[in-house]
Amino acid sequence: MIIAIDGPAGAGKSTVCKILANRLGFVYLDTGAMYRAVAWAFQTAPGLAGGAQTAPDDERLGQTLAGIDLRFALEDDMLRIFYGQRTLSEELRSPEITQAASRISRLPAVREFLVAWQRKLAAEGPGIVAEGRDTATVVFPQAELKVYLTADLATRAARRCAEYAAKGLDITREQIELLIRERDEADSRRDHSPMRPAKTAFLLDTSGLSIEQVVDRLAEKAQQLLQTVRRPM
Ligand code: C5P
Repeated sequence: MIIAIDGPAGAGKSTVCKILANRLGFVYLDTGAMYRAVAWAFQTAPGLAGGAQTAPDDERLGQTLAGIDLRFALEDDMLRIFYGQRTLSEELRSPEITQAASRISRLPAVREFLVAWQRKLAAEGPGIVAEGRDTATVVFPQAELKVYLTADLATRAARRCAEYAAKGLDITREQIELLIRERDEADSRRDHSPMRPAKTAFLLDTSGLSIEQVVDRLAEKAQQLLQTVRRPM
């Protein structure tokens, strides 16, 4: 069973998806982390940086991507990301990598490369909760449950602000609002796989809701579906 959850930055997707996957005994697939990993690799690996900044030749970029030592695996019901011998995690969460991920995510070669990985990983899990921007529309159009989570901008900025403050990052709420707004615009206006709700998605505004309330609603929907799937004919 595939649950695909999309929506803009700060809508609460990551926290909700992690808990939901855990409750259902499913694997949690954070596709945003994969875009962040490619952005990180472009910034870090010698010779790759120019490829992402200028308008690159898509075929050449595809070959470059296939040649870099970036690997993804599911371990302990979570996505693990490796660059060579190194495990990537916290370094993917900086504001710089966040904006760079949004920039490289418009490149078709990057999307093709990652969508192939995402489908391969989903095939390995017993059930999967995938989160991102296009998981319900492009990556897993066959998903049994499609969800689009939103929240108003002030709520989303406040959530990000708290996350950054907990990490000791010095960034104001106004700066965060601006960055989120820019990212939402770029993600929803790009030509390839723009962020938007799938036609059959369950739309949920999380602004006034607690994490538990959101998880409960989604878990209830998932359980109903699971019962239908498991009911003998
Ligand atoms: O979800 P997260 O904030 O980690 O995603 C970082 C960026 O990766 C997004 O702003 C978006 O540009 C890109 N992304 C995407 N498609 C996905 C997941 C993330 O384009 N399925």
